[in-house]
Amino acid sequence: MKSALEIWETALGELELQINKSNYRTWFEKTSGLSYQGDHFVVGVPNTFIAEYLDKSQRSLIEKTLIGLLQKPVTVVFSVNNEQENRTMTYGGYAQLPAPPKQPRLNLQYTFDSFVVSDCNRLAYAAAMGAAAKPGQRSYNPLVIYGGCGLGKTHLLHAMGHVAQAEHKRVLFTSAEQFTNEFVSSIRERSTEDFRTKYRSAEMLLVDDIQFLSGKQQTEESFFHIFNELHNTDRQIAVTSDRPPRSIPMMEERLRSRLEWGLTAGLQPPDLGTRLSILRTKARKEGVNVTPDVLDLIAEHIKLNIRELEGALNRVIAYAKLLGVQVTPTVASEAMVDIAPKQPKLPPPPSLLLETVARYFQIPMPDLKSHKRDKQTVLARQVAMYMLRSETEWSLTQIGKELGDRQAITVSQACRKIASNIEQDTELKQKIAAIQEQVSLLQDEPSGRVQRNTANS
Ligand code: ADP
Ligand code: MG
Repeated sequence: MKSALEIWETALGELELQINKSNYRTWFEKTSGLSYQGDHFVVGVPNTFIAEYLDKSQRSLIEKTLIGLLQKPVTVVFSVNNEQENRTMTYGGYAQLPAPPKQPRLNLQYTFDSFVVSDCNRLAYAAAMGAAAKPGQRSYNPLVIYGGCGLGKTHLLHAMGHVAQAEHKRVLFTSAEQFTNEFVSSIRERSTEDFRTKYRSAEMLLVDDIQFLSGKQQTEESFFHIFNELHNTDRQIAVTSDRPPRSIPMMEERLRSRLEWGLTAGLQPPDLGTRLSILRTKARKEGVNVTPDVLDLIAEHIKLNIRELEGALNRVIAYAKLLGVQVTPTVASEAMVDIAPKQPKLPPPPSLLLETVARYFQIPMPDLKSHKRDKQTVLARQVAMYMLRSETEWSLTQIGKELGDRQAITVSQACRKIASNIEQDTELKQKIAAIQEQVSLLQDEPSGRVQRNTANS
């Protein structure tokens, strides 16, 4: 029997394929499988807003997906962990559920054994094994594993944790987001000392998605001190990131340079052979006989993300089960018909981004580049700087030059200001998310106004 956590991971893989990306991000990204007892499946969600929405609008899709996976009737319950009031609220008429565990646990499936090694991930795999076998060695400390979404970063981090735990080492696994939340509530509860003690006592500290620390100055500083203490005493630190440390926007230079002290290893999208061997491994584990022609078909369809690859296989298997037929290439194609193979997302063209910002704030484009200083224009300009910085390859100098011949330092200050305001100001956060969505939609427009990479289609 799989754990609720794993079942939900698989369900998310399927759900991600069935709804559009921004909806998925908004409603599902921070959910987790909490428990599965009788026919009640409890999903943890970050706030009541999300609970209500999922309860009202997505319940049937979620239940259908879970039923497909579990092959049994399921009633889903949404549980909000309300930190302020320190109690758990549930949606779906089921009360008195345990609060979700404070510390994310290691996923038992994510081991070195279950990781398929090939040229696209060999270095990261070897480095993670090395650091897990001999934690604290300077040449691997810290270890930074970076790469795109669904390429195995979290998997490798968990695998390290398992090895160290088996050696009875005190392993602390967290995500940068979790770390931030904990830090913020430790300030509120005046327990920063406990917070620091906890992290300082780790013999191996694993932090997933470190890029989320960028722009959160206080949290970053607190991590910086913990990092130093652990590193000074040769405790192993490993982090993952969606990009190499030097490309994380708005990360303090001192932390960035420390992340580069040890070893930095990237993960590349899997080549065809790797995709096939991942699919074979997975099918074998599921105990399903899937013929090579079907595996070929799936591997040709999904190229850039191993999570999606697994999701597609699950979906094909579930579909065949539902129809009560063998998995043939025809059945597989039918099952995958609405899974669009995703293009690699290129950074948006700066001009498109600027146009969208100007339109959103309803100011003329020339004003954005002018020296006008009314409130609306200044905000629009700062947002434009921030978004150019975080979403395109442009340097601070280039951004300053484009936006009214300003100094790089001015741009850097604006970016920091917006990054820190986003933390407190949900309205601003929503505005930026809305602009991002518009840019992304325009970028995807088939009209061809934007150059697209068609090599994979
Ligand atoms: P990331 O953290 O990079 O977004 P994950 O580590 O969550 O990606 O991996 C996504 C899924 O793909 C997980 O189920 C993981 O087990 C699987 N996976 C990734 N890389 C491999 C691999 N090389 N071999 C087997 N499974 C993999
Ligand atoms: Mg991950």
